Amino acid sequence: MIPLAEPVLDGNEWSYLRECLKSSYVSSVGPFVSRFEAELAEAVGVGHAVACSSGTAALHVALRLAGAKAGELVAVSDFTFIASANAIAYTGADVWLIDSEPQTFNMNTELLYDEFVRRARLGRRLPSVVEVVHVLGHPARMEPLLALRETYGLRIVEDAAESLGASWTSGACAGRQVGSVGDLGCFSFNGNKIMTTGGGGAIVTNGKSLADSARHLTNQAKAGVSDYRHDDIGYNYRLTNIAAALGVAQLERLPEFVRRKRSIASLYRTGLRSLPVTEAPWAAWGDPSFWLYSVLLAEDSRTPSQLVRHLEMKGVQARRVWPPVHAQKPYASTERLGGEVAEEIYRQGISLPSSTQLHAEEQETVMAAMRRFFE
Ligand SMILES: *Cc1c(COP(=O)(O)O)cnc(C)c1O
Repeated sequence: MIPLAEPVLDGNEWSYLRECLKSSYVSSVGPFVSRFEAELAEAVGVGHAVACSSGTAALHVALRLAGAKAGELVAVSDFTFIASANAIAYTGADVWLIDSEPQTFNMNTELLYDEFVRRARLGRRLPSVVEVVHVLGHPARMEPLLALRETYGLRIVEDAAESLGASWTSGACAGRQVGSVGDLGCFSFNGNKIMTTGGGGAIVTNGKSLADSARHLTNQAKAGVSDYRHDDIGYNYRLTNIAAALGVAQLERLPEFVRRKRSIASLYRTGLRSLPVTEAPWAAWGDPSFWLYSVLLAEDSRTPSQLVRHLEMKGVQARRVWPPVHAQKPYASTERLGGEVAEEIYRQGISLPSSTQLHAEEQETVMAAMRRFFE
């Protein structure tokens, strides 16, 4: 079976793990954790990184630090993995689901901008935080959010779980990487993401005191060094030294991983051109990291579910994209802005095998199976 997204672990993983086990620092204090944090911050181009036990944990703490709590409203992308919305729910804040733009599948930040300003004029309830998700490896359009931050103090949390290594090439964020533009940014190092620590995540920020608070909250809000004193309700959200050892090895490969994802995308782009499918999103102002190469089937052709089944019979693992959050049971009655674009992406979308070590011949097998399907 050609998998959808499989990790590559053939660098220094074994050697660092051995070093870690020998040192007997296996838990959440240890040299690999600090090294991973420093090297991740440098790779992303931010001042500080705080390693966490998962991307979801990172989002929970980042949202709390951005001010999400009971009584507050937090805007988030409707088309995303459910963890983006769950992290808001954990804080007690109310969720406001914002539809996608067709071009990038990401939050339609212009739609949010217009509605925000309209509500502000009417004196209606406004979100204090926006959690913008860079879905499937493509950066979101940030300018409208930066304008809302400037004028209204809206705080920005980037959910960059799927998009490590993606960047903006023009506009207000030109030259910056995803995660480095918001007040706080979050990554996931789950097994299927761009790079992995087995399970893990990180918060990145340029604010020293935000980073200190993140480290404090993820470490049970310990007040002192030695005795059992805690000055807040914190969490056990630290990454282990074992996981960080994997992370240090994976980070060494990150530029190569992202290059591979981009060349896989370019092969799909040319190879699927004659079929009734769109190309994966790639805006002129962005340099995506193409986590999962995802296309939309033309409306009048057969369905993504049929294609997934056909590919499976040919030994190819593909997957439909997420239903919008508003279509998930816990969020059925959640307030939303638009939603039709997210529904359309769900109805027509499919993700194709995008593993970093996917061979060109395997990719040919995937594309040949797709041609057969549309014949
Ligand atoms: C994977 C993912 C998360 C959660 O990360 P975990 O490490 O699995 O907790 C959050 N948001 C998005 C968009 C994701 O894809």
